Amino acid sequence: MITASPGARITPPSPSTDWRQLWREAVTDAGELLALLGLQHLADRLPPADAGFQMRVPRGLVARMRHGDARDPLLLQVLPQLAELDEVPGFTADAVGDMDARAAHGLLHKYHGRALLIASGSCAINCRYCFRRHFPYGEEIAAAGQWRQALEHLRQDDSISELILSGGDPLSLATSKLEELGRGLAELPQVIRLRIHSRLPIVLPERIDSAFLNWFGSLPIQKVMVLHVNHANELDPSVDAACARLRDAGATLLNQSVLLRGVNDHVDALAGLSERLFAGGVLPYYLHQLDRVQGAAHFEVDDARALALMDALRARLPGYLVPRLVREVGGDASKRPV
Ligand SMILES: *Cc1c(COP(=O)(O)O)cnc(C)c1O
Ligand code: SF4
Repeated sequence: MITASPGARITPPSPSTDWRQLWREAVTDAGELLALLGLQHLADRLPPADAGFQMRVPRGLVARMRHGDARDPLLLQVLPQLAELDEVPGFTADAVGDMDARAAHGLLHKYHGRALLIASGSCAINCRYCFRRHFPYGEEIAAAGQWRQALEHLRQDDSISELILSGGDPLSLATSKLEELGRGLAELPQVIRLRIHSRLPIVLPERIDSAFLNWFGSLPIQKVMVLHVNHANELDPSVDAACARLRDAGATLLNQSVLLRGVNDHVDALAGLSERLFAGGVLPYYLHQLDRVQGAAHFEVDDARALALMDALRARLPGYLVPRLVREVGGDASKRPV
């Protein structure tokens, strides 16, 4: 289940290495994705109109899926399913509870010492469990003026020592936009760490190009990148290379995963993920219980099983390879340990 097999090379990577071009070439048609994987016989099980959330997956990630395997853990994260149309009590459009605040201000200051900037609402991939499925906001979140307002707020609060860029995916922004933010950061001496939450180095490793690295590497503060990987098969040599470039630029690399039924809810899958991350120079950080987003109920793993999995994982791995099982609860002073 966690073999190093890269899967059949069904979609040779485009000769282009320009990440914007690769972004545009993502597969957005579920029928095409199934055909690429030799699974066209499953096309009649697709929900109409992608169940209201367009499928999107970069071709480089498709190349890491196993040909002919309808249970492939990468495919299950992106393929629209009929189960998404089920109405399940407790699974709502605003699962995290503060979407209005998010969209309006872009800056979330919930935990001591760190503030989180919704730098961008867009993303190169559409994970089926993403809370964005009900808030198809776009680039406007990072529109001009937005950061000035957020930076203004930060200037007036010297308790904030860490700025977190999140989204969406903050690396979906043009590097020139990130450079703008970097200039603003220079006016905030109390901020000693910049943290970026991103899945782009995994799903579109070409994003970690020399222009980005020049900017990132030159920032005169500590840098943390929290990646988002759910299964070992998401990592391949192109991702390892992107991670190595990020480390060379001075970043500490951590990973957060979401516990997903059918994808990684097995001790072999979780142990394999931790081992593979470490081999790529990345430490496991959080394993999240799913946000209860409408349309994602079929991914949920109940707490009893999640805790049993954690016990099994602790029995198998060194402590530093065991992520913390948490869930986000509105109003708490931190992520809540399960
Ligand atoms: C998750 C989150 C953070 C980061 O929490 P850590 O435990 O430091 O990783 C910060 N701010 C907000 C609003 C968050 O949701
Ligand atoms: S990478 Fe994150 S922001 Fe992008 S679709 Fe997946 S869960 Fe959502």
